[in-house]
Amino acid sequence: MFDCSIVACEGYDEEKTEKALREATEAIGGLDFVKPGMKIAIKPNLVSFKKPEEAATTHPLLLKALVKMLLDRGASVVIGDSPGGPHTTIVLNKVYAATGMNELEKLGAELNRNLEEKTVDLPDGKVLHRLTYTAYLDEADAIIDFCKLKAHGMMGMSAAVKNLYGTIPGLKKPEMHYQFPNEADFADMLIDINEFFKPRLAICDAVIGMEGNGPLNGTPRQVGAVIAAKNSYDCDLIGAALIGMDINGLPTLKAAYERGLAPKSWKELKIHGNVEDFIVKDFKAPPVRGLRFMRKGTLMHFISSKALAQKPKLKPSLCVGCGECARMCPAKAIEIKNRKAVIDREKCIRCFCCQEFCPKAAMVVHRPFTAKLLNKLKL
Ligand code: SF4
Ligand code: SF4
Repeated sequence: MFDCSIVACEGYDEEKTEKALREATEAIGGLDFVKPGMKIAIKPNLVSFKKPEEAATTHPLLLKALVKMLLDRGASVVIGDSPGGPHTTIVLNKVYAATGMNELEKLGAELNRNLEEKTVDLPDGKVLHRLTYTAYLDEADAIIDFCKLKAHGMMGMSAAVKNLYGTIPGLKKPEMHYQFPNEADFADMLIDINEFFKPRLAICDAVIGMEGNGPLNGTPRQVGAVIAAKNSYDCDLIGAALIGMDINGLPTLKAAYERGLAPKSWKELKIHGNVEDFIVKDFKAPPVRGLRFMRKGTLMHFISSKALAQKPKLKPSLCVGCGECARMCPAKAIEIKNRKAVIDREKCIRCFCCQEFCPKAAMVVHRPFTAKLLNKLKL
């Protein structure tokens, strides 16, 4: 039996997505754990009010294929996420409508509207010792992590591991950024969340990914694959390979490897399908090396943060002064002056919430010349 699979899927056509998902999951016995009467929670990436063609969210046709397979096995299905911004029914309904989830409700899946939260202690957490999450997940017998493959301003890549950050309710997410301002700690926090939920299956919609100014305002990019794996780390190892990244550029993969949860490379996995057939050689993702792995307080971190750190940067011509970035900023580092966002660099913790949630794509990730140079030189 394989650990993971990668299967070709050229586009979002109902027949093709169903065929690809079936092959990807069957190759690893991915749904064998599902028994009649079980309740399965699917956690897609529904980060915001984005249409499927904008490639920010898990595509509804792939989710439809999974829902059908689960219903056929006699399970019931709940689909939920906590998008950015306030965790309210109004926001959830808008996100469900924009992302194509309402079709899945007609099929028999439940769309979560339970806003209750639950807080638990994590005695085994490496950095996260108390977790508040969306309580509906407790009703499920198992969780399936169904992510989207995207470039991510802060963490380099958003796929299966990062997707479970959506279990944190609404505005608690910026608080977590403030609690874990550097990338290495943030990565360990994400691993702690993954270890708490332990999804039974991780699937990645890499049919059309997002490159550039991800995870919300980037550019759709054809990748042409569906990935399935028995855990989120293996899924991310393959996803990273497709977009030219590995544990040297991704703190989540490095943290998972150091904690003995994942191998160092996708080449150590038993995979159904050929990863190399799907590698997109010129995929644009933020490849800053080094800084992501340094913990705050060290001299190297100080030096690197001055010379190498990516920073949010405003494109003034696109900014309409709506203030959404200031509302999302956990460090209260943004003020709106003369209808433009102004960042206080001393306060900024480089969480990139402003870049992620700017509705006009006016906030971008700026990489200093030194970082670009070092990356070119592979230092
Ligand atoms: S969210 Fe975007 S458009 Fe709105 S004020 Fe901030 S940078 Fe400008
Ligand atoms: S300015 Fe942007 S990147 Fe900096 S702390 Fe605020 S939201 Fe995060």
